[in-house]
Amino acid sequence: MALTKTAAPLPPGSCIGILGGGQLGRMLAMAAARLGLKTHIYSDVADAPAAEVAGFLSVGDYADENTLRTFMQSVQAVTYEFENVPAETVAFLTDNGAIVRPGEKALRTAQDRLGEKDFICETGAKTAPYFAVDDLETLRDGLEKIGRPAILKTRRFGYDGKGQTVIRASEENLSTTYEKAIEHAWSEVGAAPSILEGFVAFEREISVIAVRSADGVIKHYPPAENVHQNGILKTSTVPARIDASVADNAAEITKKIMDALDYVGAIGVEFFVLPNGDLIVNEFAPRVHNSGHWTMDACAVCQFEQQIRAAAGWPLAEIERHSNAMMENLLGDDAATWSDLAEEKNAAIHLYGKAEARPGRKMGHVNRLSPFTDS
Ligand code: AMP
Repeated sequence: MALTKTAAPLPPGSCIGILGGGQLGRMLAMAAARLGLKTHIYSDVADAPAAEVAGFLSVGDYADENTLRTFMQSVQAVTYEFENVPAETVAFLTDNGAIVRPGEKALRTAQDRLGEKDFICETGAKTAPYFAVDDLETLRDGLEKIGRPAILKTRRFGYDGKGQTVIRASEENLSTTYEKAIEHAWSEVGAAPSILEGFVAFEREISVIAVRSADGVIKHYPPAENVHQNGILKTSTVPARIDASVADNAAEITKKIMDALDYVGAIGVEFFVLPNGDLIVNEFAPRVHNSGHWTMDACAVCQFEQQIRAAAGWPLAEIERHSNAMMENLLGDDAATWSDLAEEKNAAIHLYGKAEARPGRKMGHVNRLSPFTDS
């Protein structure tokens, strides 16, 4: 029996469908198992990290209606673990009676940087200045309006800083730079660059992980301070070095975004903090987020469990952070240090079971804990 919006919480023994089979799906499946819930992974590849720890796996294209139909008949609620699941897949499941949490609107909004920024501005929050770019002429118009430096990004499919080109003040031959940017974006992301963003001179980057239940209750974790290397998240540290007023503001913006999307589930909202404490929203991910992995070991209930609770219609857990934490991503060959990490005190290791350690690939993470301090 499928879950309806008003239905009672799914009891243990029920099955949650997860669209996507990466490490986030793996950690969601593990959290579900702790609550006595089963999981069914839907992935377009068979060797999905999540498949190793979930009870059921469907392998199929995200447009394969027959496989999707069989999948949805075996689950009582559906969630997704990456934002490039086609919105049409979620629409198909929803139209056929499945409850998908978060829903299609959040997914569609997050999938297009331009629409996402329009939406964020409508909630009253600030973004970097932005301009739609279709060709060299609109790129010139955008630079005229935004100024330099600026970043040319793809509207869709970008992740971990992929497919981006910075246009510096010193760049003289714009036409050549644009041609190279197109080539770069196609090779990394499979799409043309199509949005220009002003370069934000931020003091630091933070993110808020929050979760909203089906009846609109919101809980948020304290912001983490994030450091990126080559566009890829390297570390997330709590507490972040920010004033309480900045943390409150970040939580308030996150709440407005969730309410406006009638959101159900966990979300990750990334911010740039300006030197005066103002916040610029970079983007949001409609799912559990890499910068929330610290919650697995520094809080009684982590983001993955909260997401499962929300999807299953359970009450959300109160958020209590009992330790300070620094999460470090193990990228590519970093994961080969597992035996050293295993000897480290207060270090919780999480490896994703991926066979091939390509450079920059997220192979695992380690949470280093230290005694709790407020700031
Ligand atoms: P993204 O994939 O768009 O989140 O970008 C990855 C990282 O690139 C961000 O976390 C920032 O460190 C940097 N970045 C992206 N956009 C901007 C911007 N408009 N201004 C300054 N830095 C940026």
